[in-house]
Amino acid sequence: MLIGSVANVIGDTPLIKIESLSKKTGCEIYGKAEFLNPGGSVKDRAALGIIEAAEKSGQLKPGFTIIEGTAGNTGIGLATIAAQKGYRCVIVMPNNQASEKYVTLNALGVELITVDPCPFANEKHFYHTAHRVSLERENMFWANQFENLANFEAHYQNTGPEIWKQTEGQIDAFISAVGTGGTLGGVSKYLKEKKPNVHIRLVDPYGSGLYSYFKTGLMVSTGTSITEGIGIMRLTANFKKAIIDEAVQVHDQEMISMLYHLAKFDGLLVGPSAALNVYAAYQYALENKNKGLKIVTVLCDSALRYQSKLFNPAFLKEKSLHPESIY
Ligand code: PMP
Repeated sequence: MLIGSVANVIGDTPLIKIESLSKKTGCEIYGKAEFLNPGGSVKDRAALGIIEAAEKSGQLKPGFTIIEGTAGNTGIGLATIAAQKGYRCVIVMPNNQASEKYVTLNALGVELITVDPCPFANEKHFYHTAHRVSLERENMFWANQFENLANFEAHYQNTGPEIWKQTEGQIDAFISAVGTGGTLGGVSKYLKEKKPNVHIRLVDPYGSGLYSYFKTGLMVSTGTSITEGIGIMRLTANFKKAIIDEAVQVHDQEMISMLYHLAKFDGLLVGPSAALNVYAAYQYALENKNKGLKIVTVLCDSALRYQSKLFNPAFLKEKSLHPESIY
């Protein structure tokens, strides 16, 4: 089969059975292998959906520059497609993310603007900076992944149906963290339409406000996390689409233990948000031990994107994290 371009190989990712955890819990735990997308993450789907919708509506025209504020993965997704389609890209990122992401974006030829990490209310936040630069320059298209529902649509039209087909409609639970809410919004809406009693669970890192919002209606955060690309302190248009039955919080140590477990016992090198997702899926399986439930989560990106942090003993030590397995 001949494949035309990078955009044509986004999505249709395999669903990998995580054998070690399935055996241990008497359930079937699956991870959607989003790290196999050409830009290396689940955000390739949103990037493609946003670019194609903007081309169709006329907001993005030949010769335009795409701009976005991002923790990195959406920037990499946009840049891979932009390179192939002939658009330029300006990417605004906080300056505390894994160095691998900046190196990758430079290789893809983007103009990189880095800002100090700060609360959303601060006008220097990467989100507001991207918006401002999009207004200051000519012929810019601001992707706005947080509020642009083409992000939700990409998951509603593709990720959700793929999971439904791959599990032959036998799925019992779907579990995901939230960055913009595109993944959880799109997949939960599709699955609930197909099977109203499917269990949808949000997993939040510490430092994010969504867990408390689900439990109390108030957006409050406690603690911090080394995870990247997930956790927010506001309601986004994409997150508002999500239909959620339960929310849980997972500590960084539990996440790191799962990350090392998956590497050593399943040959899976996944990034921090994926390890957080799998930990929550494992917890759900333990709550339903030996019931044979089919539980699906998302392997958002690869550990290789964070090598300089995850496989760096000095970094882990500084964060008081131990690279030990979960059991
Ligand atoms: N994991 C990683 C590593 C990400 O970069 C993102 C997106 N920022 C997510 C998970 C969450 O995806 P979504 O934006 O669809 O909520």
